[in-house]
Amino acid sequence: MTVSETTLQRMIDVVGAKHAIRDTAEMKAYMVEWRDLWPGTSPLVLRPANTEEVSRIMAVAHETGTAIVPQSGNTGLVGGQIPKGDEVLLSLDRMTKIIEVDAADYTITVEGGCILKNVQDAAEAAGRLFPLKIASEGSCRIGGNLSSNAGGLNVLAYGNARDLCLGLEVVLADGRIWNGLKKLRKNNTGYDLKNLFIGAEGTLGIITAAVLKLYPQPLRYDTAFLAVPSPQAAVDLLSLIKSKSGNRVIAFELIAALGVGFAVKHMGVTNPLTSPSPWYVLTELADAPPDLMEQILELAMAQGIVTDGSVAQSEAQRQALWNIRELMSESQKFEGGSIKNDISVPISSVPQFIAEAGPAVEACLPGTRLMTFGHLGDGNLHYNLSQPIGMDKQAFLDRWWDLGHAVNEVVLRLGGSISAEHGIGQLKRDEMQKIKSPVELDMMRAVKAMLDTKEILNPGKVLPAK
Ligand SMILES: Cc1cc2nc3c(=O)[nH]c(=O)nc-3n(C[C@H](O)[C@H](O)[C@H](O)COP(=O)(O)OP(=O)(O)OC[C@H]3O[C@@H](n4cnc5c(N)ncnc54)[C@H](O)[C@@H]3O)c2cc1C
Repeated sequence: MTVSETTLQRMIDVVGAKHAIRDTAEMKAYMVEWRDLWPGTSPLVLRPANTEEVSRIMAVAHETGTAIVPQSGNTGLVGGQIPKGDEVLLSLDRMTKIIEVDAADYTITVEGGCILKNVQDAAEAAGRLFPLKIASEGSCRIGGNLSSNAGGLNVLAYGNARDLCLGLEVVLADGRIWNGLKKLRKNNTGYDLKNLFIGAEGTLGIITAAVLKLYPQPLRYDTAFLAVPSPQAAVDLLSLIKSKSGNRVIAFELIAALGVGFAVKHMGVTNPLTSPSPWYVLTELADAPPDLMEQILELAMAQGIVTDGSVAQSEAQRQALWNIRELMSESQKFEGGSIKNDISVPISSVPQFIAEAGPAVEACLPGTRLMTFGHLGDGNLHYNLSQPIGMDKQAFLDRWWDLGHAVNEVVLRLGGSISAEHGIGQLKRDEMQKIKSPVELDMMRAVKAMLDTKEILNPGKVLPAK
């Protein structure tokens, strides 16, 4: 439905002309996402200053049946934040305030548009840790992190975004404001409404502020980059480190040699290990006794599950090791088309997944390169595929779902998930319909129908539009 000029003008009046964008060139930053897979279009981008303005915009949208797409940092990888035509884009990028850092209660309260890195820095300035850590942290914003229930590098120790949130403020589809900004660690007073909005990808309400959990800053880190002979050796190593460290392991990343090779070739990082290895692990302990990492590695080498390793001796060396991992996604862009599978299986099934998915991909499209890396500590792999050398990029991307189905067939057989942390958005919507049980889909549709009676919030994302 085309939005009338009168409706657009009523919405512009809420934020003021200076904070409304109608020019296509100016809109580009909001319409193009990181991988340029879903070019968007919209009649209007609105940049409200506060919750009150968001509420007034939603009241107009509800009255007129105008579709709204919420966007925070525009780093989502499933196209959820991109409008597809007549939807108005509502950006949180002016709502960036840190409302309160409460060191005594170990909480931070922020507006939905606050950049994740700024939350981490504000916590650090108060001697606290906000442990959500993802490679896009310099751009993504808390509203988007919560709406996508972001995961990242430290889920193993601290949980997903959902586990880090104590309270929310949400503007509902009809413009009403729910103030649930509580700092409580215990609150069993009926249904847990905040968890409906977390992970809902902007389809149920607009997150305008949140109370987040803080933790003590670790006093020391031990970070190691290790060569391992196989995924099974990596799983065995994880188990060994967990048991010997009293569960002080806060990160455990598996990386295939191809991934390290791409990062070295394109991002200027250095592999600290000189002898070749098919697989690597980047792992980190927090607040472990000083010699513990070395002791564990000696044991692991004696068992043959680690063949070589480098332990960071300074903060600079630690950052250099993390750079290998954090620049990996970006390095893949230089190798042509890439198809990303963000999957999870039980941790113990990761080796079987890798053993079976590789041949399935090869049978589907010979020469496809497997750029496997990810959060093995959570059973979550970014099972990324790079195009065969010399193949046309678009011809490769056209095979997205042939290859995706080949991978997902193995994932589902092993009791896994086709979206571990990136969500559903527009990319996996149809796939999810085939996988979820009728009863699960019915419950999801009922929640959507109750909270968004006119289906104006991010229509066609997560669930098909009516
Ligand atoms: C290099 C790179 C690395 C990444 N690594 C990880 C990783 O390790 N782990 C991980 O989980 N993700 C990762 N991501 C994906 C992405 O960064 C996360 O999903 C992030 O949480 C999205 O935040 P955002 O602010 O950019 O949200 P956006 O992209 O703006 O939006 C994401 C979704 O949330 C909705 N939304 C946004 N703001 C609101 C709001 N205020 N209220 C309601 N709905 C809203 C949107 O409509 C959309 O559906 C990575 C992305 C990149 C580019």
